Parts: sequence; structure tokens; C-alpha cells
Amino acid sequence: MDISSLPGIGPGRAKLLSNMGISTVGGLILFFPRDYDDRRQIKTISMLTPGTAHTIRGTIAAEGENISFRPGGPVMTKLLLRDDTGSLELVWFGQPYLKRTFRKHDVFLFTGRVVESHGRLQMESPDYEKITEGETLSAGRIVPIYSLPKGISQKMFRKWIKAALDMPVSIEDPLPEPLRKDFCNRKEAIQNIHFPKSDEHFNAARQRLVFEELFFMQLALLQIKGSAQPGIVIKNTDISSFLAGLPFSLTDAQQSVLRDVSGDMQSGFRMNRLIQGDVGSGKTVVAAAAAYPVMKEGYQAAIMAPTEVLARQHFNQFSNYLPGFEAVLLTGSLTAKEKKEAHASIHDGQAQIIIGTHALIQESVVFHNLALVITDEQHRFGVKQRAALVDKGTAVPHSLIMTATPIPRTLGLILYGDMDISTINTLPPGRREIKTYCVNSSYRTRLHAFMDKQVQEGRQVYVICPAIEESEIDILSVTTYADDLRKALPHISIACLHGRLKDKERIMSAFGQGTYSIIVSTTVIEVGVDVSNATLIVIENAERFGLSQLHQLRGRVGRGPHQSYCVLVTDSNAEHTIERMRAMESTSDGFVLSELDLKLRGPGDFLGVHQHGLPGLTIANIYQDIDILKKAQKAAIEIAGNTNAVFDRMVTM
Ligand code: ADP
Ligand code: MG
Repeated sequence: MDISSLPGIGPGRAKLLSNMGISTVGGLILFFPRDYDDRRQIKTISMLTPGTAHTIRGTIAAEGENISFRPGGPVMTKLLLRDDTGSLELVWFGQPYLKRTFRKHDVFLFTGRVVESHGRLQMESPDYEKITEGETLSAGRIVPIYSLPKGISQKMFRKWIKAALDMPVSIEDPLPEPLRKDFCNRKEAIQNIHFPKSDEHFNAARQRLVFEELFFMQLALLQIKGSAQPGIVIKNTDISSFLAGLPFSLTDAQQSVLRDVSGDMQSGFRMNRLIQGDVGSGKTVVAAAAAYPVMKEGYQAAIMAPTEVLARQHFNQFSNYLPGFEAVLLTGSLTAKEKKEAHASIHDGQAQIIIGTHALIQESVVFHNLALVITDEQHRFGVKQRAALVDKGTAVPHSLIMTATPIPRTLGLILYGDMDISTINTLPPGRREIKTYCVNSSYRTRLHAFMDKQVQEGRQVYVICPAIEESEIDILSVTTYADDLRKALPHISIACLHGRLKDKERIMSAFGQGTYSIIVSTTVIEVGVDVSNATLIVIENAERFGLSQLHQLRGRVGRGPHQSYCVLVTDSNAEHTIERMRAMESTSDGFVLSELDLKLRGPGDFLGVHQHGLPGLTIANIYQDIDILKKAQKAAIEIAGNTNAVFDRMVTM
């Protein structure tokens, strides 16, 4: 039913509503309040105290009057209200039309802040509602508050909602029959989410609507997953000769993940698997091991990395891990000629393993027979990019996604409900805890000495600064820091690294080979860079980084047998900063840190959340509602066999 069938909605307001995504009566009632105001307590005038908001009920004792202190100036509207215990002055500013709203002897409810003015109490700009026969909407009850644009008042909107709820339309229930018994019915839920009759009614309504929202979201994710396309079958997944060539043996966790991967690739269905592993858990070798049987059977595999530095590093590592296979690097910085050659060998099948950045997904790249796509450090990519690469093969290639940002379990369930998940939950043996300290900038000279000591022992050092050049006061820049450090430690070779440099890869690989002892860098080295001789990372302006990012940065050290250190430098005393620094000092568990990060920053900051393109949650809150989420997921799995029937029943009003 069109929204303009409601009283009071003309073309102008219909337009405003349509901007909010509301065009039908059915859509209107599914626009839930953002908050509530508990106005159940009605006070008498004698009970009022200044400084807080109250709701009172009284009779208009005299018509309102408009007062203006100078001609053409702002108008104040004054009204006198009376109840059995006394009288009270009510005032509004700049709303002269209100004068006509109140007639002597009418009974109204008012909610507003009470202030003391010239020794007398006054209520300022109260919300008002006339008492008539029926229910009140804005007072004497739990009152809904909506997110509304300018031009639509709360009062107005409440009236429309009420009118819509009172219309004799049937509200169909989209929940499958067997699930309904656990909840109140849908109509009741929608009524009580807008105008709760009591706390109990509200809770029941919310439970029901949150469940519904999460249930259908989980069902949609399962449907994506369940629509599993046929996949290329990799018959022989034996990797023993690959393993024999490694300088170490795989951890149990790595082996178990690889078993999941082999199972997928033999299954006849397309693999869609996420591998989570904390920084340093050894995902790269797992990727190589996954690619090995694919290439053995004559197919191509591709690895997509988020940065040039990483793509190049992977290229080197894969060439090491997989000797005898033709590896091709494809990044944006290749010359036109190099690119052309790379494209040609990818097309004719000579290239067996292709490693690249987003250049890989450009349209001009045509694969010969791509069977496996590995996306490293997935959180840098949106779903669209993932899908674009997957679309490249003629047959749908298997997809393996690796992430080092431990996704809080709660969020993982929502974001990756369409994927199978494997976790590398232990680090390679012999790793020592990275000792982490937080200091302020007065320690800088001592820090220089510590760097010197590490270098004298043959180790290497990272220094991270947030900015490239001096721009803001109090923010350290790579260039300034490196200049100062070169003066302080003239005998040490120091490199600078940041996104604007053309030869990033050369600098990074020179650091990897030990040409430089200290590298001063922005966060371009954040993800994945692997130099096992580096044992100290100093992070300046640590307050500028989120917990997950700090954890990623810290993961650049502690990759070899030597004791490693992370020093966080900050002069901030902000509570949030201190909390983050404490967390870094006390735990090295990426999952713990990411849960905390989520709490401190909110989910919006997690890369990929917005890109994921999931319908926004209108009522569920993934922190509060994790139990309902689990329940919804379980129900969705049970019911998934019959999804189409369920989708067909989704309400349209
Ligand atoms: P990440 O999971 O952060 O990508 P990497 O794949 O870069 O980690 O591995 C970190 C380091 O651990 C590398 O130097 C790698 O050679 C080493 N490594 C990986 N697996 C093992 C293992 N099973 N035993 C010993 N060292 C390993
Ligand atoms: Mg990695």
C-alpha cells in the first residue's frame, strides 16, 4: 500500500520518506526506532525538580501568549498549565504557531526539561500530546525515537506509524512454522517494537525481530554456499615431494588445514575456504602446498597480494618453495613490454603460478586454465574484487582466502557464513614471545641505544612512523625520523620506505638481504613482510593505530630464533590509548586483541565490513545478540534444505 494513503502524507513528505527508503505502509512499519524514551512516570507539578526531564499531565489554565522582546525578534510562546497540586509555566522558542494548538480546559501530557527561572520552575520546549479517548503516543509510555531527517518530527512520525499499525492489513509471518513457537507473533512484535506495552513486551518483540533478521541473513549466506558450483577435481593431492624439499616440517595445524584443502579440491565442488592464521603462523607455505598439486595436474594457480612489496616477496618465496614450476609476477609497476610478455605466458599456459596485485584482475588478463585462486591478506580486498578474480577462469576455480587479521568470531560468523573456515591455531615451534613495552618519547635516546645494540648483535630493526613527511605537529614522519637517526647512529646503514617511493621493492629486498640494518617506514610494511633476522620494531605515535594494526606490525618481528621486541612510543594519555597499549603489552593472541579492538572501535572500522555488501542490520547488534545469532545460524542450517520455499514466503505488503 502506498505511503501517501496515510493521513498527513502529501507529495513533499512522501519524497522525504522515500529518501529514507520508505515508500509503502509495510516499509514504514519496518522502520524501527533507534532509541526509546521512558516516559511512563507521570509526575504531579508539586513533585517536579529542576534539572531533569519529566512528564506531567494537566489542564491548560490560560490560552498561550506570544512574546517578542524586540520587533521582528524571536518569539517566545508561554502557556500556563495546572493540575491538582499547582501550576507551571511552559515555554517554547521560535514556534509562534503553537499558541493556537492549546485551548483552555484541554488536557495534555507534556514531557520536557524543567528549569528554574527567576525563582520559579518552568518547563522548556516540551513535547506535548493531547489526551483524547485513545492511546497516547508521545507521553505516559515508553516512547519510540526514530532517526529522522529535517522536516519530519518525531511526533508526526509516531502518528504515521500508529496509523499504519492500525490499518487492517494482515502481517504475514515469514518465519517457517516450526520456528514460530519460540517467539511472539510478528504483528505483536512489530507493534511492540514501536510502542512497547511493557518491558517484557519489548524484550519479546526485540528477540523475535532480531532472530528474524539474523535468520534470513544466515539463510542467504548458506544459500550462496549451498549453491556450490561444480569444481575442478584435483585427483592426486599427494604433496610428499613438496614437503621433502622444505627446510622444516609443517606444524600439525598447517597439516590439518592442508587436509581440509585437499578434501575440498577432490570433492568435485568448488572450494570456498577461508584460512585464518595469526601473524607468523606460516600461511605462505600452506598456500604453496595448496598450489603444488594443482600445478602438478597441469592447471594454473594464482596468488593475489594486496601490495607490490608483498607480491614481490611472494614471488620470491614461491619460486623457492616450488622449484621447477614457471612462476610469473604481474604487478602494476611492470613495464608495458614486461606486462605483455606476462599476459602472453598466462594466456598460453606457460605460466603455471601467477603472483600479482590487483593488476591480476584487470580485464586484459586471460588465463589458460586457472584452477585455484589464493587471495592473501584478504581484508584488503572487497568481495567484488574477490568475485572478479574468481570469474576469470572458464571453469570456476577453487578459492582459498588467507587472512592474518584474526576476525572476531562474532563478526566472522556474519561475514564469512558463506565460506568454510580453517584455522592455523599454533605458531611454528621455537618461537619466543615478543617482549612488548610502551614508553613515552622521553625514551627516544635510550631507544636509539637499544637499536644500536640489536644491530651490533647482527639483528635488524623496523621503525614505523605514521607520516611520510612532516605535516602535523606531534606526528613523526619517516623522513625526519630517518634524518635524526642517521645523525644519532652514523655508523649504521638506514633505509627509508614509504608508499610514494618508486623502488619500494628494491629497498625491501635489500633490507631482507641485510644491506640495511634499520628501516624507517610507514605502514606499507604492515602486512605479511617476512624478514626473520629482524628482532626489534619501534612504533612511533602508537596512539594513531588500532589494535589489530599494532598486532600486525608487531608480527614483523619474532619470525626467527632470536628474542624479539616491540616498543610502542606514545605521549598520549587518552584512556583508549592506554587501554590499547596495556592490551598489547599483556597478550600476543591476535584473536583476543581483535575482539577488544572490535569493542573499542566498533565494527564499522573493520575493513571489509562495508565492502561486503550484506544488507545492513536494522535491529540486530552483533555484540548483544551473539546468542540469538548462534540460534539463528543453527535454525538456518536445519532449514536450509528447503530454502526456496522460505524465500518465497518473505513478506511483501
Ligand atoms: P604468515 O602466516 O604471517 O604469512 P609466513 O608464512 O610469512 O607467516 O611464515 C612466517 C615464518 O615462519 C616464515 O619465515 C616461514 O618460513 C616460517 N615457517 C612457516 N612454517 C614453518 C614451520 N612449520 N616450521 C618452521 N618455520 C616455519
Ligand atoms: Mg603472510
